[in-house]
Amino acid sequence: VSGNRLARAGAELHRRRLDALIVSHPANIRYLTGLNASAGACVVTPSPCTLVVDLRYATAAAEAVAGSSIQIEVADASIDDGAIAVIRGLRPPRVGVEGAHLTVARFNKLSGALTPTELISTERVIEELRVIKDAEEIERLRHAGRMISAVARQARDWVVSGAAEVEVAACVDAAMRQAGFERPAFDTIVASGPNGCLPHARPTRRRLAEGDGVVLDFGGVYDGYCVDLTRTLLIGEVPAPFRRMFEAVREAQAAAIAAVVPGAAAADIDGAARRVLGAHGLAAAFGHGTGHGLGLEVHEEPRISRTVPADERVQAGMVFTIEPGAYIPGLGGVRIEDDVLVVTGGCELLTDVPIEL
Ligand code: ZN
Ligand code: ZN
Repeated sequence: VSGNRLARAGAELHRRRLDALIVSHPANIRYLTGLNASAGACVVTPSPCTLVVDLRYATAAAEAVAGSSIQIEVADASIDDGAIAVIRGLRPPRVGVEGAHLTVARFNKLSGALTPTELISTERVIEELRVIKDAEEIERLRHAGRMISAVARQARDWVVSGAAEVEVAACVDAAMRQAGFERPAFDTIVASGPNGCLPHARPTRRRLAEGDGVVLDFGGVYDGYCVDLTRTLLIGEVPAPFRRMFEAVREAQAAAIAAVVPGAAAADIDGAARRVLGAHGLAAAFGHGTGHGLGLEVHEEPRISRTVPADERVQAGMVFTIEPGAYIPGLGGVRIEDDVLVVTGGCELLTDVPIEL
């Protein structure tokens, strides 16, 4: 992990007038230290950083931080007790915790044990650093984008009349493993025919049939980094209204991708997709946001949606999905999703799959 991440975290602490920050969210710990663990705490201070782990992760932690300035504290009781010991040694007046990731019970325990240190609930300190990817992260995401695209290009072989949704999902998952992903980023979605109108449908025993549109949405984790892709496959001749919906979503997705440029408001990128769907009479059929950030988590900053403040702008180095959709009960659904990296003058597509497979 680049030492620059800790330096940026330290600068952020300074800006927020915090003497230290207890990082407890696993994705944030991984971002700062390289440690992939389900539990741990990272005590970030302007100069040293201490990674608190229990015995289970002592070896992995030592390997992760080798060659860096990060110190390791192996807690013999709980992680929180270890973090308390580290903070007591530093005696800082103001310590931040991650409000979105710490339970009230843990907050109360830390707060009681650390008196008179003031514990301050913070929001998105490390998340804001993560939103701009560094060179190492971009390389991984590019590679993962190529891998997920190769999986998607095989989908026509699985999405055939007579196959059950759960069988298609199993093929997708097996191909992701085969491609080199460490695990799926979320439960694979295969939503055929009328099931397609539920954006987060779970695969069922329903068998695909002639005339179905089939929404295939899947993601993989490669070296910790998530990519996410959706294609809607058509089996034989689909009803004309479904075909029109497909073309409208294709056009909406292209419009949103064309709107991605450094400085563009996230809400305007969403608006570009929404305007196209509206022009096709599908405004009410598009009930979710246009995209979400990708990185160590499959849903992270930035949000590309109409609900984000108008001054939230995308910047070079951000990676997110563009995935407009349209869903009509009885008719089914269409969603098309690709992953983009914002670069000078526009965006680079990390995924490369024909829209119509
Ligand atoms: Zn997806
Ligand atoms: Zn997505």
